[in-house]
Amino acid sequence: MEQKLEFAFRQTMPAQPLHFDESKCVGCHACMEACMIDVMTPGEEGHPPVVSFPDECWYCGCCVMECQTGAITLRHPLMNQTRWVEKASLKKE
Ligand code: SF4
Ligand code: SF4
Repeated sequence: MEQKLEFAFRQTMPAQPLHFDESKCVGCHACMEACMIDVMTPGEEGHPPVVSFPDECWYCGCCVMECQTGAITLRHPLMNQTRWVEKASLKKE
């Protein structure tokens, strides 16, 4: 009997680069205006913008710097969190 193989593509979740603290956000949308590549689109009045294109984010931090209330936290992907260290520091004493 012929064995039938099945394949499936694993879907990865889109990155969520921005986290808004709603208690700090005044809904000015200055962060959205600062983003050069329009990751965000307008949200409801008095609320943060909507992160409509999260995979396009460059993690440049411009929106974070523009926010006057400190309402945005940038969530870097794991790949960006790696740290460069001296090779010698990895050797056992
Ligand atoms: S700049 Fe800050 S306060 Fe203004 S909408 Fe963006 S997150 Fe909210
Ligand atoms: S980190 Fe930069 S690219 Fe990403 S949303 Fe903010 S301003 Fe846009």
